[in-house]
Amino acid sequence: MIHLETDILIIGGGIAGCIAAISLANTHRVILIDKNKEPNERIGESLAPAAQRILKQLNLIEDIDKASVYNEPLYIKNMGMQSFWGSDKVHIVDHLRNPDGFVQSLNRKKFESYLRESALNRGIKCLWPVKLQTSNYETNYWHITANSNEKIGQKNYHIKSKFVIDASGRQSNFARSLGVKRETIDKLIACWATMPNYLQNTMSTISACKNGWWYSAVLPNNKRVMAFQTDADLIDKNDIKKSTFFIELAKENKEMECILKETKSELQFHGTVAANSSRLKQFTGKQWAALGDAAISFDPLSSQGMYNAMASAMQLTTLIINHNLIHDYTIEKDKSFQHNYTQQINAIWSHYLQHKKLFYSAEMRWKEASFWKRRF
Ligand SMILES: Cc1cc2nc3c(=O)[nH]c(=O)nc-3n(C[C@H](O)[C@H](O)[C@H](O)COP(=O)(O)OP(=O)(O)OC[C@H]3O[C@@H](n4cnc5c(N)ncnc54)[C@H](O)[C@@H]3O)c2cc1C
Repeated sequence: MIHLETDILIIGGGIAGCIAAISLANTHRVILIDKNKEPNERIGESLAPAAQRILKQLNLIEDIDKASVYNEPLYIKNMGMQSFWGSDKVHIVDHLRNPDGFVQSLNRKKFESYLRESALNRGIKCLWPVKLQTSNYETNYWHITANSNEKIGQKNYHIKSKFVIDASGRQSNFARSLGVKRETIDKLIACWATMPNYLQNTMSTISACKNGWWYSAVLPNNKRVMAFQTDADLIDKNDIKKSTFFIELAKENKEMECILKETKSELQFHGTVAANSSRLKQFTGKQWAALGDAAISFDPLSSQGMYNAMASAMQLTTLIINHNLIHDYTIEKDKSFQHNYTQQINAIWSHYLQHKKLFYSAEMRWKEASFWKRRF
């Protein structure tokens, strides 16, 4: 057993965990763990323009542009969105007048690798692949056991920490280990595929249909992602595992059919992921807080999940630093911290729900269909 002690243990080296670690690097001892040796290939590429401010604040923007380090660009400018929502006439949304600039279409895996590397370079003790096993609170410290998630030469860790940040994504593994429940408000899933892009038009496309909505965007290296969002109970569980079914479904949508015409045989189907709106029933407690998707997760229609992960990481770490919660802990400070953090996350959640309702209610063409009826 390897024994370690730290001020703050962050569980999850995704966007939320890395941004929190980097912003605490100068003021606290931080250990960051992730169960995966390297980031997975995953869906979710559109980074909201406002995220640039956070990357600048943490001095992360310049290195991103040294794309050659990674042999391929971490992102490309997203030229805008063509939307077929509420009518079959196209509506164009561009970012030309946005003071923060363009939406960035990320190479998601490379971007997450870059954040992990930046955390390492800022002196954070990073452990991966290391997976949370158990958590126990005793005499003002969290005692966490974790192991290296490898069959051969497995390492076991005991980490003693003054504070734990749960940045483990929708699974919210640490909070769940404490018995905190998660509230799920819909059954949205996304089935997705990638393919080469051969089209000149590099705008993203969003297109509503009776049982959900389609989305496609161009990625760095002239790749393209295509995804169908629907409710898990509106689609056959076995059918949706097949790429042939995905292709047939896509052909029923005029805009997706146009894209597929060029690329069908080179399509790589990645299966289905959860895309529901959900939140923990408690975001924080004695010497812990949940962050990013672990606290609240959004419908991909919002395209705000990564920005929320970054912005709430900044809010959380600012609260920790301003309360001087770790170096001079008192129960009163902890209570004030918990109260403020809960208010902040509740405000984001209620704002998000209002926007979600507004967006979905702009589509009335299939108002009697189950998918849409559930969302008005
Ligand atoms: C279909 C779909 C499309 C999306 N598209 C977009 C988009 O275009 N733009 C956008 O901004 N957002 C998008 N999102 C949302 C976005 O991907 C998430 O909001 C974002 O990944 C949240 O980051 P996070 O760091 O909180 O969590 P995650 O990215 O889930 O990171 C959690 C990390 O914790 C690690 N972990 C989990 N359990 C453990 C454990 N027990 N021990 C150790 N480590 C653990 C995982 O390996 C992972 O690295 C999309 C989501 C979906 C489902």
